[in-house]
Amino acid sequence: MSRVILITGASRGIGRSAAVLAGKRGWSVGVNYASNARAADETVAAVRAAGGKAIAIESDVSDEAAIIAMFDATEQAFGKLDGVVNNAGIVAPGSALADMDTARMKRIFDINVLGAYLCAREAARRMSVSRGGRGGSLVNVSAAAARLGGPNEYVDYAGSKGAIDTLTLGLSKELGREGVRVNAVRPGLIETDIHASGGKPDRAQVLGAQTPIGRPGTADEVGESIVWLLSDESSYVMGAILDVAGGG
Ligand code: NAP
Repeated sequence: MSRVILITGASRGIGRSAAVLAGKRGWSVGVNYASNARAADETVAAVRAAGGKAIAIESDVSDEAAIIAMFDATEQAFGKLDGVVNNAGIVAPGSALADMDTARMKRIFDINVLGAYLCAREAARRMSVSRGGRGGSLVNVSAAAARLGGPNEYVDYAGSKGAIDTLTLGLSKELGREGVRVNAVRPGLIETDIHASGGKPDRAQVLGAQTPIGRPGTADEVGESIVWLLSDESSYVMGAILDVAGGG
């Protein structure tokens, strides 16, 4: 069945993988990005090559008006939404909490928490059956850091992902009778650009080797879980937080 999906932060990494895997199923994808238009265009081309439809949508998820415009653009292009992936997220360079300034923490919480909550709110408004939606699936992208705490590296980021877990639990109960399933994936050490943005390009390789599975994960390995949660194949899965972390 064809689906209309919006994925935040889909220009690169996990979001891009989820977009291309959605394209393989023939779905239509709103490919959101913050500033890297070239990467977003590459994702759009890859979704189309895989058999789906896609448009690129520039929107900073810390900006409420931009979020609403992004949802509108997806629905104008493809029709009513069936699924949303709350994936956009950032880290900052490793630091003890004692050395973090307010601007850093505010940016983490604005993008990773408030941005995700506002996208979840829009998803609830547009997919809930009682509000004229046709039901759907919301997948939140948390992180293993939410249960590990991120000591000496990023307790701010870890806490932001703890909020995503709690959002998943609460909203899944709010929307169960609205035809909307809410779940999360909680990736571990995945090879993407995010580690370089935190100042440690080889972080996933080095720490991934210490996990039970003995290696880092790939963006596709997370993307597969996301697309499964978006699909009817997971129709009785609700309020779940799926660890995709190689046992780590
Ligand atoms: P990534 O490779 O760094 O890609 C980040 C994506 O998010 C890019 O598409 C980027 O857009 C977009 N983005 C960043 N800030 C944004 C904003 N304010 N508004 C809209 N889009 C924004 O990251 P990733 O590793 O794929 O991470 C994706 C998600 O997985 C994040 O929530 C992250 O916390 C989570 N996660 C990742 C790992 C891991 O090891 N990689 C582990 C656990 C959880 P531009 O291209 O325009 O910059």
